[in-house]
Amino acid sequence: MSSLATIIKDDALASTLRVGFYGVAACSVVGIAAYIGYKAAGPNETYALKSRHPESNDQVLALDLGGTNFRVLLVTLSPQPRIDLKSKIFVIPQSIMLGPGVNLFRHLADCLLDFMKKEELDKSGVHYPLGKVCKSNNMRHPSNHFPLGFTFSFPCKQEGLASARLTAWTKGFTCSDVVDSDVVKMLQDAIDEKQINVKCVALVNDTVGTLMACAYKDQNTAIGLILGTGTNACYMEKIDRVGTWDGDYNEPKQVIINMEWGAFGNNSRLNHIRTKYDEEVDLSSVNPGKQIFEKMISGMYMGEIVRLIILDLMQQDLIFIGQRDGYGDYRTPLFTRGGFYTKFVSTVETDEGIAFANTRRVLEDMGIRNPTFDDCAIIQHICKNVSKRAARLAGACLTVVINRINKPNVTVGVDGSLYRYHPRFKRNMEKCIKTLVNKNIKFKLTLSDDGSGKGAALIAIVADRFQKSQMK
Ligand code: BGC
Ligand code: MG
Repeated sequence: MSSLATIIKDDALASTLRVGFYGVAACSVVGIAAYIGYKAAGPNETYALKSRHPESNDQVLALDLGGTNFRVLLVTLSPQPRIDLKSKIFVIPQSIMLGPGVNLFRHLADCLLDFMKKEELDKSGVHYPLGKVCKSNNMRHPSNHFPLGFTFSFPCKQEGLASARLTAWTKGFTCSDVVDSDVVKMLQDAIDEKQINVKCVALVNDTVGTLMACAYKDQNTAIGLILGTGTNACYMEKIDRVGTWDGDYNEPKQVIINMEWGAFGNNSRLNHIRTKYDEEVDLSSVNPGKQIFEKMISGMYMGEIVRLIILDLMQQDLIFIGQRDGYGDYRTPLFTRGGFYTKFVSTVETDEGIAFANTRRVLEDMGIRNPTFDDCAIIQHICKNVSKRAARLAGACLTVVINRINKPNVTVGVDGSLYRYHPRFKRNMEKCIKTLVNKNIKFKLTLSDDGSGKGAALIAIVADRFQKSQMK
């Protein structure tokens, strides 16, 4: 492992990023941890890249699987340094999310090939000297394969940079025969089956990708946070504070710990703050008893919490009074699990004043005709409090990590649909952090655009260079 670190440090890009990789398996406070040694470098070091690679642009593919969408990306890193990105979103049908694992990975490979054809990456070497689709099996992965970084946003036991066993599915996935298997191998098998000349050289969690992409621009970045379909965070830790580290304590100096904080509370530690709605959301999920903290916060569950509260108030005749005929049809979204989308929470909270135009529209979509002023005000109150609770829970946990890092400046790279689209989530989280954070620390939350995919691409480029240097 130490020779790997040395070679990567000599590499021009690595001198920009100073990335060393240490794939080991270890447990962190709340879950499985992936460690990647890493140190962001000063801005003047980027010139090393420019002088050593005057004419070359690095290109790398990335797959981003983990939430509602699946994305294929082509990332071009030019010497400026600049990151250019092309991407395409694909849908993962419900039948694939719940079906056999091989079908999931075959679907990912199909989408990859589709994207490569569209970008003409399958034409041999003309536009893209790094890669071409090979025509025969025995040509597989020649040294000019296209490197690929895989953002796989589920808890894994990471055994190496390109080797990770799935611990458990989250966020509604239940594909069979994947838990305990090496997901890089499953992906590579599907890619090889279609004779695509692509090699997966790195697997990262989305939090880690987000941290890396943000650190590329801001060297104070020490935390990667996702608030989307699911929630999780990772952070930079000094190696001597990692009790579970089973490698050399002199090298690397720091590692990234994927906390898997969505699993906080699986051991009942959060029971005193859980409500009957949280319990119901958990019991009706595909993974009861798991991801307890995530189910109180993230986009996959927030709308459902709101829906359960509304139903409860209706049952007590506290809302939509005298409108029983209006909602008598039990096939309306209000009576359907998942019928109140989390994006509705954002829509309702966008209303200011007393007209409640957005709230009325949402309620009509839910099957409620002619809601009164009071109805609208109550619905908005519910939404505000459910999302504020989520922001405070995430903020409180984030503060523990910021205080632990305890540096004068701490930047948090954040990605995810909930954070991005909710009108108040960021502000509520900041308010909470300010009341709890050590007074000597200045913190900053930075939205990381396309962070998770970009970060995986950066890591894949470094890993690919390392592997190619080994082949010489
Ligand atoms: C997964 C994490 C992931 C998070 C955000 C959680 O359900 O367990 O690995 O980082 O969602 O996507
Ligand atoms: Mg994502």
